[in-house]
Amino acid sequence: MNATDVGFGLVALLMAVPTAYLVKLSVEARRRPQAWVTLFLLAMMAEMWVGAALYARSPSSTALVEALAAMGALMAATVVVVFVALLRGRPSTDPAEPPAPLLEPPGWYRGIAVALVLLSEGLMAYAFAVATATPLLSAGASGGIGGVASVVVSPWFVFPMGAEMGIATILLWSRLSPALRIILPLQAGIMLLTPTAVASSSWLVGSIVLGSVGMIALIVFAMEHIYRHREIPTALGGYLLQILAAYAAMMVGLLLWLVYGTPVVLAASVVLEMVVYFGAVLLPDRFRSGDRFSWQLRPAWAFALLGLVFVGELFMGAVLDLEIQPAQFTGAFFVLPLAGAPLVVVQNSLMNGFWFFATVAGSTWFLAMMGAEMGVLVLFKLRETQSLETRVRLGLMLASYAAFAVFFPSVYYAAVFPNAPGGATVPFLGWSMGIGSAPLGPSVFLVVFVTYAITGVLVVLFGRRVICSTFCTAALMYQGTTIDSMKSFNRTAPVGRKYLGSRFSQAYSVTTGVTMGSLVGASFVSYFDQVGVLHITIAGADPTAFLFALYFGVLWYVMFVTIPYTGTYNCVTMGWCYTGTVAQAFQKVSFFKLKVRSKDVCKACTTLDCAKSCPVGLVDMPGHFRTKGEFRSTKCCGVGDCVGACPYGNLYIHDVRHWVRRRLGLPDSVDRGVPIPMARARPSAIQGATETMGGSAR
Ligand code: SF4
Ligand code: SF4
Repeated sequence: MNATDVGFGLVALLMAVPTAYLVKLSVEARRRPQAWVTLFLLAMMAEMWVGAALYARSPSSTALVEALAAMGALMAATVVVVFVALLRGRPSTDPAEPPAPLLEPPGWYRGIAVALVLLSEGLMAYAFAVATATPLLSAGASGGIGGVASVVVSPWFVFPMGAEMGIATILLWSRLSPALRIILPLQAGIMLLTPTAVASSSWLVGSIVLGSVGMIALIVFAMEHIYRHREIPTALGGYLLQILAAYAAMMVGLLLWLVYGTPVVLAASVVLEMVVYFGAVLLPDRFRSGDRFSWQLRPAWAFALLGLVFVGELFMGAVLDLEIQPAQFTGAFFVLPLAGAPLVVVQNSLMNGFWFFATVAGSTWFLAMMGAEMGVLVLFKLRETQSLETRVRLGLMLASYAAFAVFFPSVYYAAVFPNAPGGATVPFLGWSMGIGSAPLGPSVFLVVFVTYAITGVLVVLFGRRVICSTFCTAALMYQGTTIDSMKSFNRTAPVGRKYLGSRFSQAYSVTTGVTMGSLVGASFVSYFDQVGVLHITIAGADPTAFLFALYFGVLWYVMFVTIPYTGTYNCVTMGWCYTGTVAQAFQKVSFFKLKVRSKDVCKACTTLDCAKSCPVGLVDMPGHFRTKGEFRSTKCCGVGDCVGACPYGNLYIHDVRHWVRRRLGLPDSVDRGVPIPMARARPSAIQGATETMGGSAR
């Protein structure tokens, strides 16, 4: 960087101040004259940069004259337009006529203001890039879409734009809602961290990692915000989807740039992010308005939110994989050529897409990033959980995720099996349970056997929650505050409600049958492949490796984003997970069940909070409590929300510990759950029952 670069850089950053101030004036313009004068000033600025860009393109005295002439003509035309507009909108001189009402900036006005800001920034970036001979990313820098894109992702565009967003945020601070005061600074920071802005490998890795941290922070904030505010302003709902779409596009663009070298999609996402930003700051008052909606009643909105978050994360994971583990991932994505007959192109595209999805979803950095994001939501839940048993389980769940989703599969086993065939999984307690380990041959048979033996014993002693609420990676994803609150969809979603209750519907039997059938079939084919009788692969992989990639690399995430239509924990409620089905079989003979201290309390209970809080939709549990005083269901995955939700502390989880205590003649010690404020309003019948019931009412 030389003195010229520094000088131009200072000018670019200084230009951010008047632009941000004009943005503030645009927000505050409530009368026609104010609005037109603000547009006039923005137009003047853009026209000034038209002249600068024309001159920078071919600096000569002729070009200077042409640039000045063009500027003069444009400015004169602008003056005429604004003057006419002001004349037509001048206030009446009749004192009897009421003053014109204060107006919110209309859509066309906001559109022109944003377009002028973009034009100014783009032309300034072009002029400065040419003047300083900054190397641009695209060979077509002198024109065309590639040329425009290379200017947009250059430091001359993103740094001034980031500064402008930051300054405008500060200038408008007093008008911003609390949510915008968090999101807008993050947005400005992410703009400043555009990886293409500086041609250096340390900037590339640093900006990608820090930008990802910023996006994760934004997603966590958005998730927690909607958890705490079940009704949100309509403007905020729209803005959240827009910003998530911009970041998803940014991650897609970044990957395309890293793999194919094209900055076009990345540049489009930068512009989109800017437009979204100005769309929010130009109407800050809408974010405080009473126009609100309950997102739990809008499955389409929740689906869009989850879908956009997931797309952004998948591509962010791929970008992190490429940058942090280049030796493993360079050239690993999109390996099949997209050339030849149309059918071959379609087939190769599908195959590339499938393996890209499954490979990234199973990679270290994707899982670490998802773990960080969903783990924070679990920590929020832990903070508000008072039941000791549930707190311990949530802590174990976090530790299990770190061990079984990240450390063992990605770090430890990569060291133990450095030459494992692609797609092979190594057995461990947790998700894969050994499925997909066939390519590693008989060397892992003992580990598979021990995995199933340990799992089986633990499920018999403590119930299915050992897998489905602790070891399984899915547990962490489902049990953070926001995703947990989506259990409301289990009862309202068209598909989810078909799977309510502990009974096994026909649909459930079909999904479980298909899952287990495919597992058994793939295992046989895989075995005969290993002994040399067959030579069958699916999508180029061992059948069990393919099956694992299909169920847990792709299908699981597809089902996760469909929660608003299928309900949470749909792997359990719909029975499409073979690991869950195996755990379910063991649960049939386990010590695990739900018990109540007093059937009478349940008979008098009108809240039925236990049923409402169940994330797998076991809505029939109160009926069982009233008649038998206990409830057994192989669908129950022991999350324990019902225990905490019962307003009378009447419910507890029974497992081998209670059985042992009873055998030893020890007094029972049960987690009494956490009475919540409703308990204060309990009916007198319940009051009497709870006063007389003891810990041994079983
Ligand atoms: S059913 Fe399967 S995916 Fe779902 S929580 Fe249980 S083990 Fe995990
Ligand atoms: S909320 Fe408590 S008292 Fe009411 S039915 Fe459920 S376990 Fe019984």
